[in-house]
Amino acid sequence: MKQTLRTSTTQNSYNLFIKYNPDRDCYLCKAKVIKSFKYWKIIENEFPYDKISDTHHMITIKKHKKEDDLTAKEKEEFKKVKKYIHKNYDMIFENTVRTKSIPNHHHLHMIELKEIKITNKNNNKHTNNFSSSSEFYKHKTLTRERNLSKCSF
Ligand SMILES: [Zn+2]
Repeated sequence: MKQTLRTSTTQNSYNLFIKYNPDRDCYLCKAKVIKSFKYWKIIENEFPYDKISDTHHMITIKKHKKEDDLTAKEKEEFKKVKKYIHKNYDMIFENTVRTKSIPNHHHLHMIELKEIKITNKNNNKHTNNFSSSSEFYKHKTLTRERNLSKCSF
């Protein structure tokens, strides 16, 4: 199984939902609408990426269609919608067709990242292992190069 951005509880619920609803109706078409535009809508994600986010919504075209089928007017409105998203969320991202659960209905994910508290204990970890930030980055680069050398393309 691949890494997930959901907590194990949410991921388990999602897996069960997929398992017992193989011919499910399109979730994006019937999800609770949080904000509506002329062609687009922001909806709740029932199975949020709750490992990294406090808020996980999706922006989707109101009509059930693929990105390739968007009209010029729909694309034009998305530019305005995106400005709204930039003001209200931390990240916008899209799963590739390979991992999308609903590839036939264009949608993007928006999240607000979780707040984390950095304790003094964690701060000391870095300073204990590396005498400077440049040493830390040198270590990171070497590790990455070592990992890349193991890959065969
Ligand atoms: Zn749909």
